[in-house]
Amino acid sequence: MTHLLFIADVIGSPGREVLKGLLPELRQRLGVHLVVCNCENSAAGFGVTREVAKDLFQAGCDVLTGGNHLWDKKDAMDYLAEEPRLVRPANLPPGTPGEGWRVMRASNGVAVGVVNLLGRVFMREADDPFRAADAAVTALRAQTPVILVDFHAETTAEKIALGWHLDGRASLVVGTHTHVQTADDRILPGGTAFLCDAGMTGGFDSVIGMDRKGALRRFLTQLPERLTPAEGDLRLNAVLVHVDESTGRATAIQRLQIPYDKAAASHRRTGADTGARLLTGAEPADAVAIEARMRAHALLEAGVTPKLALVSVGDDPASQVYLRKKGEACAEAGIEVLRVGLPAGTSTADVVARVRALGADPGVHGILVQLPLAPPADGQPVLEAIPPHKDVDGFHPENAGRLALGLPGFVPATPYGVLRLLQHHGIPLAGRHAVVLGRSHIVGRPMATLLSAKGCDMTVTIGHSASGPDLQRLARDADLLVAAVGRPHMVTADWVKPGAVVVDVGIHRLAPAGGGKSRLTGDVDFESVRHVASAITPVPGGVGPMTVAMVVLNTVIAAERQSGRSA
Ligand code: NDP
Repeated sequence: MTHLLFIADVIGSPGREVLKGLLPELRQRLGVHLVVCNCENSAAGFGVTREVAKDLFQAGCDVLTGGNHLWDKKDAMDYLAEEPRLVRPANLPPGTPGEGWRVMRASNGVAVGVVNLLGRVFMREADDPFRAADAAVTALRAQTPVILVDFHAETTAEKIALGWHLDGRASLVVGTHTHVQTADDRILPGGTAFLCDAGMTGGFDSVIGMDRKGALRRFLTQLPERLTPAEGDLRLNAVLVHVDESTGRATAIQRLQIPYDKAAASHRRTGADTGARLLTGAEPADAVAIEARMRAHALLEAGVTPKLALVSVGDDPASQVYLRKKGEACAEAGIEVLRVGLPAGTSTADVVARVRALGADPGVHGILVQLPLAPPADGQPVLEAIPPHKDVDGFHPENAGRLALGLPGFVPATPYGVLRLLQHHGIPLAGRHAVVLGRSHIVGRPMATLLSAKGCDMTVTIGHSASGPDLQRLARDADLLVAAVGRPHMVTADWVKPGAVVVDVGIHRLAPAGGGKSRLTGDVDFESVRHVASAITPVPGGVGPMTVAMVVLNTVIAAERQSGRSA
């Protein structure tokens, strides 16, 4: 399978910065074989120059495509004629410098045809894009069935029409130009992956990538206004496609919207002593969500709809928030969610019976019981009633045992998410000393098991409420300190070895002394610890998003296993 990544219009230097910050890791993580990027807004928002293109190639792009702004910088004329990795719109008059389609070699050796076309509706005049597409695709198919078409056009109708026109002849038809990502990614019946618009890469606190104040003034006054690329709320928009290189048919399409934390990246680069590097959860959680969506999509294509039952007893407000978040994240991945909310007062036997019925239902692949259960229901017998192969929370004794033995099973979402977060941020683990504060079966104990397992290879100490005063000294010996004690701000700077990595699992809602809006905080005193640690997870925005993402991934894995489609 060949994995193609198409990056939506890169807007000026903020867009290039996002690309440099995210693409190398993204490319590796998604196993991408060829990166195609629309560059027509990459030089200060308008056009491309030799130097800017060099930046894009250095960031990891293999091919650049263009659009109506490609010639905005004078430098582009010569450059277009010379650069074999730049593809300009094909439907321009003969004699226009450059080429409208090219064959590129992906990193797995597969030849990939790349075509660029301009729309005609509400755009500058160009030749017929449909006939130009026919000519390009016919020429390319003599060399390769894997063909990517970037259609730089204004209207959805024109783009959708081209998608149908090329269905069965191109692997991907993706629209660019509007800078707003559409939610219509799909594979057409002939095997062509289609997305009406891939969006943009740059600042989203903007009007389609440009500083919103200037853009707004232009609308309000109708006077000429210099537009500059926006720098707030940076994100990368892209689309990932898996293509069977023997036929050119797409097997999966996934659009991506990845936030870019400029401050965290700057800490990473400079190692600034203004505080520890932030180990944020948004990027790794997004990576897990992408993986889950791709795998769920493959199941849907095969006629299997992954389904998760979310069981709760009573209406504990915090539990309701967690259930809503898990439900939304699952729905976004294409997982069907069945909410089973039982009233407070339901007996343990009745909850167990309900869970057993879900366990026997072949249409339900995962069962998650949200703890705590309202009395008199007792959580443990209910957890044990979940068949281990549907236990996506990994709390069943069989899964706990499998984890301890290093056998495949389900790993509890929070410790599993912490591990993925550490791996995502490149934290070295092997041979180092981890101290895990807390020994619950949900977080502390499975966390210690994972970190000490073969592959992670850490030396692990577990602390708990009976560890006594020595615990602080033990914690100060940790290279990695994981706090999961359920006590707000228990871990202060004097618990942390200078340069240690600190993971804060705790979540507490604290009301400020003088009233006002409550805020979330963790088991770690962030303000003091960040001056001692080398890296730290924030609360909120650290471990929390990972927990939700891992539940989604575990559900997809459960559905794969039960339908005989395990990777
Ligand atoms: P539990 O209450 O089940 O376990 C807490 C653990 O901390 C116990 O092992 C306890 O020891 C230990 N402990 C308590 N006080 C101390 C102390 N003073 N010194 C040393 N150890 C102590 O909590 P969970 O493991 O379920 O959760 C821990 C925290 O993580 C909570 O704040 C929870 O809200 C949060 N959480 C966050 C999630 C996320 O997605 N970010 C998901 C799950 C939990 P003993 O065993 O001796 O009682």
